[in-house]
Amino acid sequence: MQRESLEAYPAFAPAIREVLLSAEEIEARVQALGQAISQDYAGRNPLLVGVLRGVFVFLADLYRAITIPAEVDFISVASYSAESRDRGVVRLIKDLDLSIMGRDVIFVEDIVDTGLTLNFLLRNLQARGPASLEVCALFNKPKRRLIDIPLKYKGFDLPDRLVVGYGLDYRERYRNLPFLALLEPSVFLGGEKENNAGRRTE
Ligand code: 5GP
Repeated sequence: MQRESLEAYPAFAPAIREVLLSAEEIEARVQALGQAISQDYAGRNPLLVGVLRGVFVFLADLYRAITIPAEVDFISVASYSAESRDRGVVRLIKDLDLSIMGRDVIFVEDIVDTGLTLNFLLRNLQARGPASLEVCALFNKPKRRLIDIPLKYKGFDLPDRLVVGYGLDYRERYRNLPFLALLEPSVFLGGEKENNAGRRTE
């Protein structure tokens, strides 16, 4: 499985330590999430809200796996690291284009780690008066969670490791890999700890 996943991406092979989830495994889970959302929201035209940039790959696939009318909007944020004094403080760089008042909103996240970013954004969105607000997260790292947030739709639980691929980056690279992978330690510069290295704001 690991070798097959990498075959089409030889330029990345030296940097990849392990393929955690193949493209096929991810696709099957995304389809199942799309089906569940289609059933639960039948007749309601939900609005999917994603945080740029990491979520764009997942959201593109999830949106097409949803078989009922639905809309999409994006926000973009910059956050301070979970280790800093201001952890959990998020600055909106790009706000939603659409109003969510009275809408059935599904907040779509690529990965939930401490939960601080998600918590901040959910409170921000809740204050705008949506009819309902639920979370759909593809990847979840339960070990690092600092705030308990109910994830109505969840793809995979992951160990506490920096993962890349399927939209997730390390220093802006690897987002185009269709599988989820761990990087070789040699990729990390300056002896940074792996689970903190390259954690991005989006
Ligand atoms: P939280 O606020 O839940 O701690 O952090 C969530 C954000 O951290 C995610 O949206 C994502 O941008 C980033 N993040 C957390 N874990 C990983 C990871 O393993 N790989 C990448 N590329 N980003 C991650």
